[in-house]
Amino acid sequence: MCTCRHLQPITPAPCIGGCPSDALSLFGFEIDKVLENIAKNENPSLTCKENLPCLAAFGVDDWVSLLLESQKTFTCKLSPCANCEINKDVHISSVIEKRLDEANSIVEAFGAYRILKDFLGVEKTASRRAFFNKFIPSTKEATQEQKSLERVKKAIKPYLPDMTQTKVVTPFSLIHQKVIDQSCTNCKECVQFCPTRALSYNGDGTKILFQMGKCIGCGICEDICKPKAVKSTFAPFDWVDFAYDRAKVLIEHDLQVCLTCKCAFSYKGGEKVCERCATFEKEHAEMFTLASEIS
Ligand code: SF4
Ligand code: SF4
Repeated sequence: MCTCRHLQPITPAPCIGGCPSDALSLFGFEIDKVLENIAKNENPSLTCKENLPCLAAFGVDDWVSLLLESQKTFTCKLSPCANCEINKDVHISSVIEKRLDEANSIVEAFGAYRILKDFLGVEKTASRRAFFNKFIPSTKEATQEQKSLERVKKAIKPYLPDMTQTKVVTPFSLIHQKVIDQSCTNCKECVQFCPTRALSYNGDGTKILFQMGKCIGCGICEDICKPKAVKSTFAPFDWVDFAYDRAKVLIEHDLQVCLTCKCAFSYKGGEKVCERCATFEKEHAEMFTLASEIS
């Protein structure tokens, strides 16, 4: 499942290196090892030429985690991109750069660490086969995405007490926010199908709650919602809400008992009859009209 959470739109999405989500994940790769490398080097630099996969495999969340956890400025060598076989249309290198820039913007608020971009020293052509050998498709996208989010939240928390301003107006690709409009019928499907429990219900089922710190932006809730009531939105947010999984109410329903079927439904005004009964009555009335016309 391609979740396209980091950059959108990207056209075309030609290969794994261009895939902006973790729909295709790294095999045998651990971000802790990269962290170790950064920690033990005085002037750390990362390059696909030294036991690293293509830098396009790192999402914004990975870069943010590396900066905050290492507490170091490090360099990403982008010179190999110039001769890379899979970067002929410079799509891959532009994805990498965009992510590095976004990570730098995010981390700016927490400290003075940065990722520097190094374009010097063009190196030999990268092997396409070697590149693909470093990846295998994963069937656990949601788990992977959740792990990345948890890591970023953990890295951010120690910085929050010293920040004078935790509110942010810039939209970042790792932050996903949702709104639900009044066309919501309270069918609960978005909650049931949300793979990370970012959407939930309060105790009496009258409110739909959302925790942006848990949302991986998979879009399942939007796809599954019949009236298209749930949508993504960019709005100012607070790092505290993100880091501590604070929930906000997306919609509150006035639950009433339907006069016809006696089931609870989301009351929007007018006669206290649920949508299903109202539709049934309407169709029933049309049937009688047709029957009287025939006789
Ligand atoms: S937002 Fe859509 S899917 Fe979720 S409860 Fe409302 S109508 Fe159902
Ligand atoms: S809230 Fe929607 S986009 Fe976010 S994780 Fe749940 S289903 Fe996916």
